[in-house]
Amino acid sequence: MFYRDTWVEVDLDRIAHNVSSIKRHSGYQQLFAVVKANAYGHGDVEVARAALEAGATHLSVAFLDEALKLRRSIKNVPILVMGPIRPSDAAVAADNQIDVTAHTLDWIQQIAGYQGATLNVHLKMDSGMHRIGMSSATELQEACRLLQLNRSVKLTGIFTHFATADCDADYYQQQLANVDEMTATIDMSQFELVHESNSAALLHHSQQPHTNCGRLGIAMYGLAPGDVFDMPVELQQAMSLHSRITQVKTLKKGEKLGYGVTFEASEDTRIGTIAIGYADGWLRYHQNRPVQINGNTFKVVGRVCMDQCMVTIDDSVKVGDRVDLLNDQCTIDMAANDLNTINYEIVCSISDRIPRVYKHGGQVVGERNDRFR
Ligand SMILES: *Cc1c(COP(=O)(O)O)cnc(C)c1O
Repeated sequence: MFYRDTWVEVDLDRIAHNVSSIKRHSGYQQLFAVVKANAYGHGDVEVARAALEAGATHLSVAFLDEALKLRRSIKNVPILVMGPIRPSDAAVAADNQIDVTAHTLDWIQQIAGYQGATLNVHLKMDSGMHRIGMSSATELQEACRLLQLNRSVKLTGIFTHFATADCDADYYQQQLANVDEMTATIDMSQFELVHESNSAALLHHSQQPHTNCGRLGIAMYGLAPGDVFDMPVELQQAMSLHSRITQVKTLKKGEKLGYGVTFEASEDTRIGTIAIGYADGWLRYHQNRPVQINGNTFKVVGRVCMDQCMVTIDDSVKVGDRVDLLNDQCTIDMAANDLNTINYEIVCSISDRIPRVYKHGGQVVGERNDRFR
């Protein structure tokens, strides 16, 4: 239930299409659906369910808070926190069957005294991203030794993350070589899960040695992780953004509009107002962006306000008409390009003030309004 004519639509059939075609392309039997950041703004529980139904076998997020929230709705599926958690939160994770990441020896030493429900741990290798993880064979060996001493800990997985799988094959190969060197003296068969590929690697590279799983993020949402390599599968953008015209007017030649009156009508100009603004993640940078109304293209004029913005229209547009701000024509990639950023940032920016509507088989199958429950 929501009382506002602005909404995000998420096509769950497209999520399913992306998951199953990328899974098939990668050849992995197991796949994490990466649903951090509220599933890149799409809605964590809804996307997770659709992804699992389409062939994902595991879920992963960035923070323990995200994992615990997901766990309330989704039981019996492994959920991995890929970032560091506080050692003191190990019991909370274990009690909720949340798998955690061991990123330093120091962290491992701090959970050495942990006792309780089994804590599943994935070792994180830093093979060249230089963000988190252990970066030498001796560190990894010591990590295995220490964790194996603890009966409340299960060494479940080992993973790394690629910095350039979407753009630089040489650096990617260098990371593979680093993994080889780090793991040469480690029995990789002791791990249930060995996972390295993000979306870009799943799409553009073959399975790495010892791996039996990948981590699928951005491409699951139908968005390309980069633009350097050709796309081997057809991705379908799952998110679209819509609003409705709340008022129409004619600006006479020379009249101005909006904060700072940055737009002046060079001739008599029809203007429509819509109820979306920067507090919704429809950023001020979107000034001058094209939008679609009844299949025709118009554009945002004047400064975007916190809750509203104005668009040019023609005589055919009436109050109540639907405005498509992001769709298959005004794509998320085009918006990212115009704003000099990446598609990830566009979808993550759409705030939870905007209700999400879920579609399956062309029908609305669910709604979610995080600001009004
Ligand atoms: C976010 C993230 C992913 C997913 O990356 P995509 O490029 O969206 O596929 C995978 N692994 C880790 C560690 C991440 O942080």
